[in-house]
Amino acid sequence: MEKIAAIVTRVRRESPDVVTIYFLLQNRAKLDYEAGQYITVYFENSSAPEGKAYSLSSAPHEKWMSITVKKIGEYSGRLHALRAGDVFAISEAYGFFNPRTSQPIVAISAGCGIAPLWSIIKDEYWREKARIAHVFYTNKTADDILFQHEISDLHAQHPDLSVAHYITRQPELGDAFRIGRIDIDAVAQLGDEARYLVCGSVEFVKDMWVGLMQRGIGQNNISTETFFE
Ligand SMILES: Cc1cc2nc3c(=O)[nH]c(=O)nc-3n(C[C@H](O)[C@H](O)[C@H](O)COP(=O)(O)OP(=O)(O)OC[C@H]3O[C@@H](n4cnc5c(N)ncnc54)[C@H](O)[C@@H]3O)c2cc1C
Repeated sequence: MEKIAAIVTRVRRESPDVVTIYFLLQNRAKLDYEAGQYITVYFENSSAPEGKAYSLSSAPHEKWMSITVKKIGEYSGRLHALRAGDVFAISEAYGFFNPRTSQPIVAISAGCGIAPLWSIIKDEYWREKARIAHVFYTNKTADDILFQHEISDLHAQHPDLSVAHYITRQPELGDAFRIGRIDIDAVAQLGDEARYLVCGSVEFVKDMWVGLMQRGIGQNNISTETFFE
């Protein structure tokens, strides 16, 4: 795949171990991409010369493109070290996570798995005839929630956007949060009327998939994006 030069415009810390890297191409151009797609990032002299995938957390109408990265190992560490003005290599955008149906969206994610869903939700509410979205988002602590203020702002502008934050390792929190694991019965309430978009680790995606299938959701109504290592 052709390698394209990306120029970092800004790095924003989102949580103790996650940053969003904003970037543009040469001449301030952007990739031609759809909400929910991902790119491959390439680093030279790395153990993975074939590159690694990162979902675009930006929506196509936004000024800058972005990826939102959790620091884990080699690639994510090198991405965290980037600063404004640095250049890194990427691919075109690809992937088919965003189903272009007219059904309401139920977005189910853990941690960084919110990235492609946040792209899709921003894109939807930017369009005149947006699909209504219901967000179920789980994190260990409230500090780990990504895009918390932007999500609240979008909800304030569009009260039909519903957001449920689940927190698994911080029992003492206010009413704005639900303590414990995502309640699949609540997630599956819309039955086959909705389209279910699940994104996160292998284990998370599998658990949610099984839970939805057990509650009778047809597999045609479930789309998944798994953050394989
Ligand atoms: C389609 C797709 C989209 C993706 N989008 C994103 C994204 O938007 N943001 C993002 O941060 N990542 C995303 N990923 C994951 C990303 O591609 C890398 O796998 C991730 O950054 C780890 O690579 P690394 O080189 O930093 O870690 P490595 O150097 O490969 O791993 C270092 C160590 O950490 C362990 N490890 C690796 N992954 C995990 C994990 N998830 N949890 C715990 N331990 C782990 C490994 O076993 C190893 O011991 C995506 C993956 C796919 C397939």
